[in-house]
Formats: sequence, structure tokens, C-alpha cells
Amino acid sequence: MLPTQAPAAAQVFHTVLAHGPLSRAEVTRRTGLSPGAVTKASAPLLEDEWIEEIGPPPGERAAGRPATLLAVRAARAGFVGVKVTADELFCVRTDLTARPLATRRVELDSQDVGSVVQAIGKLVRRITTGPAVRDAPHVEGLGVAISGDVDGHTGVVHRSPFLNWQGVPLARLVEEATGLQTVIENDVRALTVAEQWSGAGAGLSSFAVVTVGTGIGAGLSIGGNVVTGAHGVAGEVGHLPVRGGERMCTCGNVGCVESIAATQAIVEQARQAAGDPKLTMADAVRLARGGNKAVLAVFTRAAQALGLAIATVANLIGPERIIISGEGVAFYDLYAEQIRETFAAQAFGAAKDCDLIVRPLPFEEWARGGAAVAAQNLVAPTRPRNGSARG
Ligand SMILES: [Zn+2]
Repeated sequence: MLPTQAPAAAQVFHTVLAHGPLSRAEVTRRTGLSPGAVTKASAPLLEDEWIEEIGPPPGERAAGRPATLLAVRAARAGFVGVKVTADELFCVRTDLTARPLATRRVELDSQDVGSVVQAIGKLVRRITTGPAVRDAPHVEGLGVAISGDVDGHTGVVHRSPFLNWQGVPLARLVEEATGLQTVIENDVRALTVAEQWSGAGAGLSSFAVVTVGTGIGAGLSIGGNVVTGAHGVAGEVGHLPVRGGERMCTCGNVGCVESIAATQAIVEQARQAAGDPKLTMADAVRLARGGNKAVLAVFTRAAQALGLAIATVANLIGPERIIISGEGVAFYDLYAEQIRETFAAQAFGAAKDCDLIVRPLPFEEWARGGAAVAAQNLVAPTRPRNGSARG
């Protein structure tokens, strides 16, 4: 365990983890701590080998005095991350920097809480005892990434529409099933942490991830922190109201972005447009690409709603970059033009300068986000440690 959980030590560790290797001066600048405080906070972390001093980058050796860099010792601890979807579990075992060492996936027989927890327990046992990862660092914690209104502080899934769960104390249940210290997090936020550590958000002071698929959500990273919201909800762009929307959303409201642009919403509207009640998403994509005007209009309207959601994120937090991901990017060709157009029309002033990129990220990346959240939790716990959250 960490020798100290003093706030300054946690801050230094966090900064080096997400942005390192860094010189002490850079840690000072990024944390806002004094140079003396950084040295004091680093000492126990160095002593217990959570971080180490490494030489300067190759090109900088000759330039002036040699600056040693602080880096996280990746092999110091291992983690497991799990992404829960409506029908599958994706699992990844990582080192302290959330670098993947092994992955597994399994289909779910049922969405019943008990059987999902049991399946997680089985999968985690397989990945922690598998021969392929015998030399991997000891697993110190588990992070579960799951969609919906998820409270990482209490470990409770308040509501997850796609699993039809309400008020599930998932962290405690998974902890009992695996024997591992467990944190849970909204899946898009977990993915955003993974992108911040080693993805398209690395090194950026602010960015957002907007995911399009079964659900539509956003992870917001502002000033180096992924926003969790005071009550566990933040970045729910899928539930922004869209002008003229009349379809019912999974949240019970009418006219949300998700009710127009989520996978199931597109399938339902395409069925109506094509007059075929058995139409699948693949059929809808094929028809739209083939020039079926009525079905193409469904995708165009979805793209308008998405463009509005993306512009709203840009207007609210002014990120350097917005990463568009999720299963929906597989047919981004049907969205691209309209998203660009709506974004350009709705983004205010310089918010238009935000870099929009499309990045397919498989569910293993979302699971890796779960592991990253577990690693963060080791340093700055969101839940009481040592099982005291039980009961
Ligand atoms: Zn909604």
C-alpha cells in the first residue's frame, strides 16, 4: 500500500502517473505546489518505489544541467479493469500505468445482478491466475466500468438503463465475489481516464470524449481532472433536449439526443422509414449507403442531434479536442458531413477551433479505463479502504 495518502503525495503521484515522466520543476508547475512540498511529497513515494528517478530525455543531456525525471514504476502494482455491456464482459489486466498485459471477454447469459457479478468473479479469477501473466505485477485493485448513473463514492449503480438495474451496490458485491478492492465508474468517464493517461487526450489540459452507440455520453477532462460530478452525474449529453424531438428516451423523457441518435433509436426510425419491422442496424446502414433517401434522412437527423451535442460540449468547457468514439463510429461516413455542418453552426466563436477527431476504441479500451480508475483509487481513494465500506 502507499506509504502516505497525504493530499500532496496523492497529487504528485497523480500528476506523474497521468503526465510523466516529468522533471520536478514540471511537477511543481502542474500541481501548483511549492518546490519544497514536491520534494517532501516525493520522498516516501520514491522510498517505497511507487515512483523512480530516471535520466533526462536523450536529446536534452547536453543542454545545461542534467534534469532527472520522475516516472511511475509500472511494475509496482497490477490492476484489473472490467467493462460491462448489456450482453458481454470485457476484462483487461494491466500494470500501474494501465498498460494492458492480458485481455479476456465473455458473453453474459443474463442481465440479472447475481449472474453478472458471478461472471465478473469468474473472469477476474481467470485473468489473475492465467499462466500467460505469471510475471505480471500483483493485482492491487479492480475497476468496473458500467454505463448509467454510477456513484463511484458509494459504489452504487443508481440506474443503468441497458441492464435494467436500479440501486445496485455493485462495488461491494464484486468485492465479495473477487476479494479485490473494487471501484466502479461510469464507463465513458473510465474511457476518458484511459485516453488521458495514454491516448488521444495525453498531455492536453482539457479534452472531451463523446461516445455514440447503445447510449450517448461524454467524458470531460478539465485542467487534468476527469469531472465526476458532485452526485455522480456529469457529461450526460445523450439527455440534452433536441428541438422538435418527440420520441421517448430510455430515461423516460421525450426528445433527448439519445432518443434520436442511439443505436436502438436509429433502428426503430429506419424500420418506420423503410416500412420493414424486421430491419437490423446492418440493414439500415446498407440502405443508407445505397442511397435510400428515407433511411439516409434518419442518419442525417441523428447526425444533427450529435453535432448539437458536440457543439454544446465545446461551448460549455472549451476543450482543446473532442474525441468521437463508440460503436457508432463504424458508420461515421453517414454522419460526418452533417456533424461538421451542425457543429460549425452551433459552436460559439473560438469554440469552433476545437479539434474534432474520430477514434474507434474497442471495449477493451473501456475496460483499461476501469483499471486506470482502480489505480487512481489506490492513491486518492474515492471509497473508504480495507473493506470498511462494507455493510
Ligand atoms: Zn434521455
